[in-house]
Amino acid sequence: MEENNSLLRNIPKVDDLLRLPRISAAAAGLPANRLVVAIRTVLEEIRQECLCGLTQEIPPLDEICERVEQILAEQTVASLRPVINATGIVLHTNLGRAPLPVKAAQAAYAVAQSYSTLEYDFESGQRGSRYSHVDVLLAGLTGAEAAMVVNNNAAAVLLILSALAKEKEVVVSRGELVEIGGSFRVPDIMVACGAILREVGTTNKTHPQDYKDAVNENTAALMKVHTSNFRIKGFAESVPLEELAYLAHAHELPLIEDLGSGALFSLAPYGFPEEPSVCDSIRAGVDILCFSGDKLLGGPQAGIILGKKTYIDLLKKHPLTRAMRVDKMTLAALEATLRLYLDRETAEAEIPVLSMLAAEQKALHAKAQRLFGLLSANQSVAAELIEGQAYVGGGSLPDVAIPTVLIALAPQQISVEVLEERMRKRPIPVIGRIYKGRYLLDVRTMLEEEFAVVAEALAEATNEK
Ligand SMILES: *Cc1c(COP(=O)(O)O)cnc(C)c1O
Repeated sequence: MEENNSLLRNIPKVDDLLRLPRISAAAAGLPANRLVVAIRTVLEEIRQECLCGLTQEIPPLDEICERVEQILAEQTVASLRPVINATGIVLHTNLGRAPLPVKAAQAAYAVAQSYSTLEYDFESGQRGSRYSHVDVLLAGLTGAEAAMVVNNNAAAVLLILSALAKEKEVVVSRGELVEIGGSFRVPDIMVACGAILREVGTTNKTHPQDYKDAVNENTAALMKVHTSNFRIKGFAESVPLEELAYLAHAHELPLIEDLGSGALFSLAPYGFPEEPSVCDSIRAGVDILCFSGDKLLGGPQAGIILGKKTYIDLLKKHPLTRAMRVDKMTLAALEATLRLYLDRETAEAEIPVLSMLAAEQKALHAKAQRLFGLLSANQSVAAELIEGQAYVGGGSLPDVAIPTVLIALAPQQISVEVLEERMRKRPIPVIGRIYKGRYLLDVRTMLEEEFAVVAEALAEATNEK
C-alpha cells in the first residue's frame, strides 16, 4: 500500500504536461478541453495500472506524451466511417447493408443542411404529412392502396401486430417461426405486441385446413412470414398466398405478410430463383405487408408498410407510430431511391444493390482486370485473378451462391493474417477475407472509385515488415 501511494504521488499533474512543448504541438488547432481530457484519460490509465500492480514505475514523460498523441489522433478519425466491402456479400448487415444510390445520398444531404417540407404543405401553407413524400410513389410502384414508413422492418412488424392483433390470435405456420439475425424472432415479437401466436401445421408442411381449423372468434389475422435466411428443402409444402388471402377474407380477417427483403421486381432475369415480389403479394390479396428499405430495395434503413387504406389509417393513428417515425434524411433518400424505380433500366444502373446483383461475369472479369492491373504492380505480393462465389446477404436468398471474380493475394514478406489486419485497420478499412492462405478481394461489391484506395492500402500494408 505504502509503495502504491508513493508511486501514485509520482504521476505527473495535468498542468505539468500542459507545459511541455511536445504536448502543445500535438494539440495545435484543437479545442483546449480536448487536450485536457486526453491527458486526464492517460493519467487515469496510469493510475489504474499502478493500483492493479501492472506497473512498478511511472512511464517516462516521452511515453506519456506518445499516449496522449495517440488518443488525439484516434479522435480525428470518425468511428462510423466508410469501409471498402470486398467480401462479395452485397447486403452485409455489419457493413451497413445497402450503399445508397448517389441521388439518394444527395437528397439526404440536401435536406440535412436546411429546413425542409417534411411536414409542411407549401401549396396550402398548412401542416402536411411526412408520409406524403413517398406514399403516392409507393402506391404507384406496387399497386397498394396506401403506404407508410417507419424506422425499420422490425418496427413495422411490431406496429402492425400491436395495432391489429393486441390480445388476439394471429395464425402462423410452424414452418415460418424463424429467427432473423440480430434477435428478431417471430414468437418473441408476438409476445412484445401482446398478440397471441397460434401456430399451425408442421415445420415442413402446412395445409389450408390447418389454418381453417385454427380460426375462432378471437382470431385477429392470418400471417405469412418470409423465412429469409432459412430454407426447407425436400418434402415441404406451404399454402400459396392467393389461397391464404381467400381463406382470410372468407372469415373477414386480414392477411398480414412480413416480406423481409421485399424486391420491387423479380430478380429472375439476373439468374436468381423466382422470389415473390412486393407487387405479387399485393396482387395476391395481402391486406397489409411490410419489408426493409435497405435490403433488396437498395435504399435507406426503413420499414415500408403497404396495404389497404383502412388498415394503414389505423396504424397511422397508433401511439407507437410516433415512437417509430422516420427522419427527414431517411425519407429524402427513400423518395429518391423510389423515383429511380419508375424506370427499370435506371433502377438497375443507379441503385448499387441492383447493379451489384445484376453484374454479369463478363463485366466482373473486366472490372477485376482493372483492379488486377493496379495491384499486380506491387512486387511484394503475388496476385492472381480467380473465380469464386458471392452471396446476396442480409437474409435474402440464403442458399443462392452467385458466381463472382476475385483477386487472390499472397504476400511475400508478411503473413496473410498480418496483411488482412493491416488492410482492415486503415482510416478507410478494406474488408476482404482469408481463404486457403490467400487474401481475397471480391470485386462484385467494390466500387470502381475505390480501386486506387485499395492499391495504396496494399502498398502501405506490404511496405512495412
Ligand atoms: C430482415 C427481416 C426483418 C427485420 O428487418 P429490419 O429492417 O432489419 O428491421 C424482419 N422480418 C424478416 C422476414 C426479415 O427478413
